[in-house]
Amino acid sequence: MDSLEFVYHARTSRVIFGDGSLNHLEREILALNAERALVICSTEQADTGREIAKRLGQRCAGLFARAVMHVPVELAREALAAARELKADCAVVVGGGSAIGLGKAIALESEFPILAIPTTYSGSEMTPIFGITEAALKRTGTDVRVLPKTVIYDPSLSTTLPVGLSVTSGMNAIAHAAEGLYARDRNPVTSLMAEEGIRAMAEALPGIVANPSGIEARSKALYGSWLCGTVLGNVGMALHHKLCHTLGGSFDLPHAQTHTVVLPHALAYNRNAAPQAMERIARALNANDAAVGMHEFAKRIGAPLSLKELGMRHEDLERAADIAASNPYWNPQPIDREKIRALLQDAFDGVQPRTWNA
Ligand code: NAD
Repeated sequence: MDSLEFVYHARTSRVIFGDGSLNHLEREILALNAERALVICSTEQADTGREIAKRLGQRCAGLFARAVMHVPVELAREALAAARELKADCAVVVGGGSAIGLGKAIALESEFPILAIPTTYSGSEMTPIFGITEAALKRTGTDVRVLPKTVIYDPSLSTTLPVGLSVTSGMNAIAHAAEGLYARDRNPVTSLMAEEGIRAMAEALPGIVANPSGIEARSKALYGSWLCGTVLGNVGMALHHKLCHTLGGSFDLPHAQTHTVVLPHALAYNRNAAPQAMERIARALNANDAAVGMHEFAKRIGAPLSLKELGMRHEDLERAADIAASNPYWNPQPIDREKIRALLQDAFDGVQPRTWNA
């Protein structure tokens, strides 16, 4: 077991989980002391938004189907103005991390309680972390006010998530749990959640690939994403998340796909410095080695393996290494610019993660 010296400060939301749990939507709105909800979703998921609005009937104040990636501040202001004009007293956000991000931006600026209905495995609904883009710059922060008050996990809504996105979104969730296992501020409870989250996701994803509309695998994946998201919301992240933030922010690479490609290589980098975490990750994957096991797992479920196939340019690797090695941050293995450059090369090529000397 890890050290028995820890701080446990649970940040909690009310979680309603299960196939058909959407049936409790009205009850949950009333439990928030609210009466009328503005429904928020992305344009692509407008049908789902309309379905939620219909379900709400007179409890629906209106639909705002315009959420986009990276949460532009102007959009957050427009959504908030719409909520006030329509006399809503809460927001129901349905969708992935982008839609939930818009809900969080509203919560940051207002008194509106947020009820989230996630349809991907990003885990954003369980974290107090927000990101808002203003004048082309994405500002991220942590504020407990943005944590949704209630989360309804209904696997039936995720059956439409395309297999490719399901796989990368699931790997994104696994990345939260994997880094949570070596976080400096981890505690025994978050580590239990992390290992179980990885195990559930590793069991679920091959099932989704085989049968995308099967509720059992979808349910297990959503359960895994809840656990992994809770870990992300409660402990600090390290090298892997920093690298993905750099690649997404400065080189416009897609979020979940980038997490998928980088994870095995970030684990290899930290292998010698975090042996207990690696043992737990490997155990959850039923593999001998966490990094190699993660690479093999990604291959088996047809996930992208290289930054090259995500559109990264080889000539940008030097700059990416510079950015990722600047502003030092904590990581189990000290940050070394040349080693980061080599890691990025491996991720670019999509090769098996290397063995580093201790
Ligand atoms: P996303 O929300 O951008 O969704 C990707 C696409 O999938 C969108 O077009 C969406 O409409 C569609 N989609 C979602 N669910 C669907 C479904 N069930 N069926 C069909 N289509 C569906 O992607 P994401 O990976 O969930 O979120 C990524 C964003 O979330 C990033 O901006 C990232 O920074 C943020 N994020 C934030 C946190 C946090 O804690 N703040 C955590 C993870 C991710």
